[in-house]
Amino acid sequence: MLPDQQLLRIPGPSPIPPSVQRAMSQPMIGHRGQETSAMLKNIGPGLKRVFGTTQEVAIITGSGTAGLEAAVVNTVQPDDEVLVIVTGAFGDRFSKICEAYNIHTHRLDVEWGTALNPTEIKQYVQTHPKIKAVFSTYCETSTGVLNPINKLAEAVREVSDALIIVDGVSCVAGVETKMDEWGIDVMVTGSQKAFMLPAGLTFIAASERAWEIIENNERPRYYLDLAKYRDNLLKDTTPFTPALSLLFGLEQVLNLMAEEGLEQVYERHTLMMNMTRAAFKALEIPLLTSDADASPTVTAVQPNDFDAEAFRKVIKKEFGLSVAGGQQHLSGKIVRIGHMGYCSPADVLQTISAMEIGLMKIGKNIELGKGTAAAQQIYLNQGVLV
Ligand SMILES: *Cc1c(COP(=O)(O)O)cnc(C)c1O
Repeated sequence: MLPDQQLLRIPGPSPIPPSVQRAMSQPMIGHRGQETSAMLKNIGPGLKRVFGTTQEVAIITGSGTAGLEAAVVNTVQPDDEVLVIVTGAFGDRFSKICEAYNIHTHRLDVEWGTALNPTEIKQYVQTHPKIKAVFSTYCETSTGVLNPINKLAEAVREVSDALIIVDGVSCVAGVETKMDEWGIDVMVTGSQKAFMLPAGLTFIAASERAWEIIENNERPRYYLDLAKYRDNLLKDTTPFTPALSLLFGLEQVLNLMAEEGLEQVYERHTLMMNMTRAAFKALEIPLLTSDADASPTVTAVQPNDFDAEAFRKVIKKEFGLSVAGGQQHLSGKIVRIGHMGYCSPADVLQTISAMEIGLMKIGKNIELGKGTAAAQQIYLNQGVLV
């Protein structure tokens, strides 16, 4: 194995483009100066496009979980009841944050590997009219499910004024997100997944009606007070010292996305999902999710005749190729492959062919090249899954 080579195919952190790496190594500047204001001014429109919103997108220094906590403390008023839809480990995290603040939390568990059902949630909200906010996960990273948040928002609105609050950490910037058009009230994401940056930033936007609640919310908060971030952004500045190196990188990430075109970014992710899924189907290794529920950013497979952990170990040792295991009750039972951000169809072909060798090495009897050929065929079919 080449000592300095990392093939990072976990669902975050994800690889960083060389031009972004270079941008982040620029000399430090003053955070109250003209250069920082100009940079923030330049970043704003690109972030809004990625979120599909005309609202300000707050940039908070902290990991994605800081953004989740900000969503909770800003929108949930002291006596509110909330519903958290748990489709995996990250829905579970949202419910734990709510519980940590002693919020009256209803929890609706969905079988891991399956997407939420908007009709079921609509019925739940209808029979629990005190629910003021519905929390869900866009891509549930622990299973590779993409939840239909647009349909969720539509269904809930038919029966309730509850805010729709979404954790989009592992897919926003890799999957189409139309916050305003879909009626999403709060959207949160982070820097180290489809945003092609190191961990350290969380991005969060709120709708008009969410702002009304945020502004009148008496729950105590200070560092995570979203209004501070918005009011400062409107003056091209930040309430606290921003992570300037990450902002240098973010500016370049948004340049790269504009150059490729957001539509093309999303198509590339769909293509990588289809190539990965076709490969495992050809190898007859079960996928955890159905085609309909699958996320374009992460694919989970559930081996039935080989050891997931032995497989992960051998590809790491042979090729420096990292893929993720399962979380909570799926620990040791699944393998998750990240294909997001700075990742191309060529990277997917490399990953699949290296994984085929890994399967042989742990004694699984496969026909070498069968998965790679299936992925190649998808590429030649212009990405259409057959
Ligand atoms: C990665 C991730 C987070 C945030 O995790 P941090 O470690 O705090 O950055 C939150 N939600 C989802 C869905 C994620 O994939």
